[in-house]
Amino acid sequence: MGDLAGAGRWKRPVRRQAPAMVASRAARRKVNNPVQSHRSTLVIRVVTSTLFEENAYLVARTGRTDGVIVDPGLDPELILAELDSLGWNPSAILNTHGHADHIAGNAAMKQRWPAAPLIIGRGDASKLTDPAANLSAGFGIPITSPPADQTVREGDELDLGGVRWRVLETPGHSSGHVVFAAMDLRPVVVLGGDVLFAGSVGRTDLPDSDPAALVASIRDKLFTLGDDAVILPGHGPATTIGRERRTNPFVGEGSLGSWD
Ligand SMILES: [Zn+2]
Repeated sequence: MGDLAGAGRWKRPVRRQAPAMVASRAARRKVNNPVQSHRSTLVIRVVTSTLFEENAYLVARTGRTDGVIVDPGLDPELILAELDSLGWNPSAILNTHGHADHIAGNAAMKQRWPAAPLIIGRGDASKLTDPAANLSAGFGIPITSPPADQTVREGDELDLGGVRWRVLETPGHSSGHVVFAAMDLRPVVVLGGDVLFAGSVGRTDLPDSDPAALVASIRDKLFTLGDDAVILPGHGPATTIGRERRTNPFVGEGSLGSWD
């Protein structure tokens, strides 16, 4: 479904899912490395949750065992199993934003690794402990997370697992959404949450959404990271800035001037 995520009710058209997203669930659940160009420098594992098809990522510099857990969702046992297979002792839990499908696994991660700080953008921290604001109440499965240990803002830098992540505030889908960009890597790697997807964008009809802000976040921030920058989105397959700049039906070149 992806109903917390994608541009389902966006007024402009289009298929909601890139072809790769309809690959078999077993295939998608299979942990993989979507960033071939970083195979020698980074370990990137993806665990996709069943209900909302949300991507949790585990990322570290190759050889390190203190990587980050990004947006642990509704199948925390799969994430824990993957971490065990890696033998990691994670250095932090990063949340791109406070929606339930991205934070549902926070409690299980904190229970296992209490010393790993839970980090989220300052504008979305209150969603962690508010089932109405994190949209879980509306689904009848109220979810709360432990509170944030640290909040971050534009320009903050986090050295975690051998990677320096820069915080970019990217409001629009959620008012306090941030992405984490590894600016020192070539190409840049971005933990993108629900801002820009392969062939789509984050939905903007939620209570604190702002369509114009989403477009600005994508065009003014993500599109400046370079065409070869890799986006690891919260739903669906990895993509690149160049591909989306050229072909994305919502924010790509073909759509320029079509926004009100
Ligand atoms: Zn979301």
